[in-house]
Amino acid sequence: MLVLVINCGSSSVKYQVRDTEGSIEDTQVIAKGLIENIGTKIPNHTEALEIMAKNLEEPLHGKTIDAIGHRVVQGGDIFTEPVLIDEDVLQKIDDLSPLAPLHNPAHVLGIKAATETYPGVPQVAVFDNAFHSTMPEHVYRYAVPEKFYTDYGVRRYGAHGTSHDYVTGIAAEFLGINRDDFNGIIAHLGNGASITAVQGGKCLDTSMGYTPLAGLVMGTRSGDIDPSVLTALMMRDPELTPAKMDHILNKESGLLAIAGNNDMRAVVEAMESGDERAKLALDMTSYRLAKYIGGYHVAVGGAQALVFTAGIGENSSPFRALVGERLGALGIKLDPELNSVRSDAPQIISTEDSAIPVLVIPTNEEKAIAEATVEVVNS
Ligand code: ADP
Repeated sequence: MLVLVINCGSSSVKYQVRDTEGSIEDTQVIAKGLIENIGTKIPNHTEALEIMAKNLEEPLHGKTIDAIGHRVVQGGDIFTEPVLIDEDVLQKIDDLSPLAPLHNPAHVLGIKAATETYPGVPQVAVFDNAFHSTMPEHVYRYAVPEKFYTDYGVRRYGAHGTSHDYVTGIAAEFLGINRDDFNGIIAHLGNGASITAVQGGKCLDTSMGYTPLAGLVMGTRSGDIDPSVLTALMMRDPELTPAKMDHILNKESGLLAIAGNNDMRAVVEAMESGDERAKLALDMTSYRLAKYIGGYHVAVGGAQALVFTAGIGENSSPFRALVGERLGALGIKLDPELNSVRSDAPQIISTEDSAIPVLVIPTNEEKAIAEATVEVVNS
């Protein structure tokens, strides 16, 4: 089946056409691209998708798209699995916008535009937080007045679920463990980063919360912070409006705030040449992550593996080494040589006597979305 995978943001559309019958990644990806500057150089999402359709003419050689899979960031607690999009689903995705104001409205525009560009082609929504819908209530609730939960939907939702789900499946298969029996810890470390505790192949806990701001120290996001920091500063400085604070914590914090750069490669290089701020930033980031790993090891009743994935997790052996150094108490040991090997395939980077294996597994959200789309369309 030829599936067009669309990741629609407010000013950009990332797309990929995949042949789900291809035997390997190279034969599965027929075309991919990114269209930016929607709202400035390109007037709207419909025109962006028209450009995309034009770009696809040549690589498709007259073949037609069989189905479209959309990445949708927020499914709230309404959508716990991928669904075929109809008017009602579209309305519900729109209604969930208060929980993802930067993303869901853009997804709605993208879905409407795709309906115009590809009339009659089935479209499937694959939700970023669906994998996290198995979290038990004591994990997803916050200890705040009940009304916040019942009236405003304030709870932990998590994100990166498609990636955590996909990587969980690959890890279990790689280790020869039945997925339903697999307990593990998945660290998805990209510009945005989250870690998930997997028990019996399902999500038990995840570090992102009501929004993707919570948890780990990220490229530009603070991760966990004492909430009184916000209220105290906002009471002290009238210029710190909620919108300004939101911007600071999402876009001006994390590695960028401490090291002056949000790219892991640059921060590691700076540390290696003696930059103290870069060292502090990496200490903070690796310490926070190690603390979560310890916590999740306990949460799942003993993980069978620790898995690194996404941009930093797959590529930054220095960062993985910094985290590994902090895991001695768990008996986890990285093998420096294995840790320095780059591979497109899943691999082990721990020593033989490590208490549990540490793996690096390349994530592939587009592949996961395409497969989920085929499954929904075929059912
Ligand atoms: P996202 O999808 O969240 O934007 P990615 O998963 O693409 O992020 O990861 C992006 C991050 O991965 C970059 O900020 C960069 O720091 C890091 N990264 C990418 N390649 C490398 C590399 N070769 N070495 C170290 N870090 C890398």
